[in-house]
Amino acid sequence: MSDIETSKEWFGRATRCIPGGVSSPVRAFRAVGGDPIVFAEGSGPELRDVEGRRFLDFVGSWGPLILGHAHPEVIDAVCEASRRGTTFGAPCRAEIELAEHVVDSYPGIEAVRFVSSGTEATMSAIRLARGATGRDRIIKFAGCYHGHADHLLVAAGSGLTTFGRPDSAGVPADFASLTQVLHLDDEDSIEAIFSREGDQIAAVIVEPMPANHGLLVQRREFLESLREQTKKYGALLIFDEVISGFRLGPEGAAGLYEITPDLATFGKVIGGGLPVGAFAGRRDLMDVLAPDGPVYQAGTLSGNPVAMAAGLATLRVLEASNGWGQLERLGHELEIRLRPLLEAAPLPVQLVRQGSVFWLCMQGGPAPRRPHQFNPGAADRYQPLFYSLLENGIYLAPSAFEVGFLSLAHHEGHLDELATALERALEEAGKNA
Ligand SMILES: *Cc1c(COP(=O)(O)O)cnc(C)c1O
Repeated sequence: MSDIETSKEWFGRATRCIPGGVSSPVRAFRAVGGDPIVFAEGSGPELRDVEGRRFLDFVGSWGPLILGHAHPEVIDAVCEASRRGTTFGAPCRAEIELAEHVVDSYPGIEAVRFVSSGTEATMSAIRLARGATGRDRIIKFAGCYHGHADHLLVAAGSGLTTFGRPDSAGVPADFASLTQVLHLDDEDSIEAIFSREGDQIAAVIVEPMPANHGLLVQRREFLESLREQTKKYGALLIFDEVISGFRLGPEGAAGLYEITPDLATFGKVIGGGLPVGAFAGRRDLMDVLAPDGPVYQAGTLSGNPVAMAAGLATLRVLEASNGWGQLERLGHELEIRLRPLLEAAPLPVQLVRQGSVFWLCMQGGPAPRRPHQFNPGAADRYQPLFYSLLENGIYLAPSAFEVGFLSLAHHEGHLDELATALERALEEAGKNA
């Protein structure tokens, strides 16, 4: 018997002791069918599975790995920090330095608090918004994901003006009823809601670059209308920058659109591959938090020295190498390579890109700005492409509605590799169509 256990064998063991075999549902490959790959190591742009197969990785752990896997400066920082102790449950230097970085980088932010995930960040920002305004209701948008806190796992009701309904079993309908779900790209419904009930709304939360249900690039005018209406009615605008923060640039999407929110949430990139989230805002708002104010929020491992060191090292590498400029150029190079071959493809597919975030959108016509513009055949068209790319050593997200990420570990040669494999995959898909 071989002493090498295959991915399939490992995953079989996983399904016996972990629900669905995974620690987070999208990893289970349900959207493309088949079993997930069990990975053994990552280095730069590459992943290696337990069988030793190599993949060029464009998932990047769903966003955090902006420098690629196991970047030497991040690993050094993590090793050094852990030798000095993995947690103090007390303030540490790296936490204060990372906080200064966030405050100095992001527009309108004067204070930041660290947590351990993006979910905690948005959950805490909503609590803070409710505490600061004394109002309970919040507005979110269909197609935006803000982690899995109860009041954010809410889908649109049957009509635009109905209250939200729970998007998950276990979420009380009463919680969901405090969350109203609107369409992206629609200023009119925002104005209508605010003119009717603006004085009851604590906050509007939005991904300014929605990247969790395809990449739904928004018009500036839409985001501007959120800013205007919230300001007019004394509600807070929360930019969920868990993906876009420190990925589009040090100012996130707020800098790109030149719109300053009241609160912003971070995760992914600022943790440099370790579990970190953060929420931040103006001083007067952040002072409403305990211990100075009445809104409670806490975390045993928050501001953890090892995680803070990874985040800090990541931001330092990005700054020292003009990483964001390089990533934008790389994104542009990707576009140059993929556009012609996608245009010539035997099935409808287009590239949507913002900076180093890209999405293979499996439909023609204008790029969608909200989920209800999705073409129903998209997921079916993606599945064979995904598997063909995988066979050719390219790891894209196992879902038609997840985006891809470029990192500073990717070079033009890797983009060529992706383009060649994609061209072949599209040809095969054309033959089988
Ligand atoms: C990933 C993500 C979250 C949740 O972060 P976790 O660390 O997975 O809890 C929240 N908001 C956005 C925009 C995200 O992309």
